[in-house]
Amino acid sequence: MASKIRLYVDHDLGAGQSVLLTKEQAHYLFGVMRKGVDEVLSLFNGRDGEWDARVVEAGKRKGILVCEAQSKPLQLPPDVWLMFAPIKKARTDFIVEKATEMGAARIMPVQTEFTNSDRVRHEKLVAHAVEAAEQCGGTYVPPVDPLAKLTKVLAAWPEDRKLLFCDEALVGAQAVFAEASHDKWAILIGPEGGFSQAERELLGAKPYVTQASLGPRILRADTAAVAALTLWQTTQGDW
Ligand code: SAH
Repeated sequence: MASKIRLYVDHDLGAGQSVLLTKEQAHYLFGVMRKGVDEVLSLFNGRDGEWDARVVEAGKRKGILVCEAQSKPLQLPPDVWLMFAPIKKARTDFIVEKATEMGAARIMPVQTEFTNSDRVRHEKLVAHAVEAAEQCGGTYVPPVDPLAKLTKVLAAWPEDRKLLFCDEALVGAQAVFAEASHDKWAILIGPEGGFSQAERELLGAKPYVTQASLGPRILRADTAAVAALTLWQTTQGDW
C-alpha cells in the first residue's frame, strides 16, 4: 500500500488550521497524484510536528487543507552541523539529501582553498533538503546556509561547539569518534582536492577542533559526509 503523501508547508499547523497550498503543490497533489477533496495527507513545517490534514478544496492551481490531528510530535535531530566543500552538482545535491536523511541539524556549504566551485545553487539545495525530509518521514528540515568561506566561518565560530575535522591526511589512523560526549558539534568534510597545509594548520590551532580519520581508504567527499555522520551518531547521537 502506498504510504500517505507528506508535504512540507511554511504555514503554522494546529487543530482546525487551514493551509493554502502553493501552485506547485496543488499541481502535484491533484494533477500528478490524482488526489481530491476529502483525501487525508500529512503536513509538516519543521516546527509543529506532523499533522493529518484533509483536502477541502482542490483546484488546478490552488488547494486548501484543514489540519485534523497531530500524527507525530516535532522530533529535533541531535545538534550536529554538516560543513562541506561543494563538489560537482549532482554530488553536492546528494550530500544535502543524505545529510537531511541522516539528521544533520544545519547544512553549511563552505569554500576552502581547493574548492572548485565558487557558487552553489542555494535555492535548489534548500529544495533538496525539503524533499529529503518529505520522503524520509522527518519532522525537521535543516536550514541550508549560503556558501561562505571556511576562514570566515571559523572567524565567527561559537566556541562552545566542537568541530570534527575529517582530515584525509589521517587516512588509516585510529578514528577518534568515541571521545567524551558533548552536545554541540559540527563535522567538516573537504573537497575532492582535500585540505591545504595552511588550512590544516589553521584548524589544528583551534581548541574546539578534533581531527578525525574515516578509516583506511580515501573516501569521496559525498561518501565521507555520510560516513562521518553515521560514525558521529553511533557515539554521540541518534542511535
Ligand atoms: N584528494 C584528497 C582526498 C579528498 S577526499 C587526497 O587524495 O588526499 C574528500 C574529503 O573527504 C577530505 O577532504 C576529507 O574531509 C574526507 N575524507 C575522505 N577520506 C577520509 C579519511 N579516510 N579520513 C578522513 N577524512 C576523509
